[in-house]
Amino acid sequence: MTQSNVRLRQPIVVVLGHVDHGKTTLLDKIRGTTVVKKEPGEMTQEVGASFVPTSVIEKVAMPLKNLIPIKLEIPGLLFIDTPGHELFSNLRKRGGSVADIAILVVDITEGFQKQTIESIEILKEKRVPFLVAANKIDRIPGWKSIENETFSKSFKLQTTSVQKTLDNYVYKLVMQLAELGFNAERFDRVRDFTKYVAIVPVSGKTGEGLSELLALLAGLTQQYLKSRLRIVEGPAKGVILEVKEEQGLGHTIDVIIYDGILKKNDTIALGGLNGVIVTKIRNILLPAPLQDMRISKYGYKSIDEISAAAGIKISGPGLEEALAGSSIYVVENEEKLPEVKKIIEEELSKIRFSKDSV
Ligand code: GDP
Repeated sequence: MTQSNVRLRQPIVVVLGHVDHGKTTLLDKIRGTTVVKKEPGEMTQEVGASFVPTSVIEKVAMPLKNLIPIKLEIPGLLFIDTPGHELFSNLRKRGGSVADIAILVVDITEGFQKQTIESIEILKEKRVPFLVAANKIDRIPGWKSIENETFSKSFKLQTTSVQKTLDNYVYKLVMQLAELGFNAERFDRVRDFTKYVAIVPVSGKTGEGLSELLALLAGLTQQYLKSRLRIVEGPAKGVILEVKEEQGLGHTIDVIIYDGILKKNDTIALGGLNGVIVTKIRNILLPAPLQDMRISKYGYKSIDEISAAAGIKISGPGLEEALAGSSIYVVENEEKLPEVKKIIEEELSKIRFSKDSV
């Protein structure tokens, strides 16, 4: 592949799946691995999201260099921290999804449950590509775990009968996905990732298969979503995850910025309980690393600007009525305001009607 000069932003990854199938455990493992493998100075902290820099992905995926020889151009992966159904529905934007890619976590011994099937249908409708993390492989009877090993190596070391059991479970997932209209296959047997959903056997508990999962997420997003990931220099667009009162800061909103650049003092428009809120950003805040000297007494560091994709907190007047799940747009100038307002109003009417339907 030729090295291009196009700068790419980090893909936004959401984690979905049935309750108890292991979303939180898997995210914790990814976060833990990231913290351990980071060099000092690589520390970036986000609100509502975890950033895994490319340097970490490369370290974790090192044993797979021959399998996935892609040179990474994306700066990393941004995982939305709150896994689950409800958040996923909040991450919808007009006609699509803020998620660039999803991981569908499924307990390999249980298969897809009703709720997960609904998620798959939404992914299909919104055309969000996804990988299946077939989780809890350490619970397959007879499986001998090797902490943090690649799936490929761990699998080779199992007995033939254990390997067969795993493949039977994978096959059941393949059948379930076929019923939903998807071709799927264990990732190492997939020839064309645009036609097949890759199933990656993992264990959130032992870390087995994490190398392959991260390498595939990074490789596939970069390869197939390049135009979507191109950095846009324009005004920021985002989605509100949470509205919170913070001591000393008043009402704040936690936001995922998926496009453009956000600056201090920008005028923003967002959905509110009683219609569109138009206000000015007082502070853009990131959680302050402990050793940072600029730390405010509130535990956040104020920054002047940030570009997508990122998880940040915003403080400013009038945010107490902000609505979680609604979009937020930077308003470039007065003339743009009516247009932006109209977009948000349309969205608000949809949020109100479909709040519990997804
Ligand atoms: P969530 O509801 O999808 O976020 O699921 P959790 O991450 O809370 O996991 C549910 C339960 O399954 C917890 O008791 C976890 O310890 C356990 N669990 C999650 N992943 C694994 C795994 O890979 N192996 C095993 N043995 N247990 C797991």
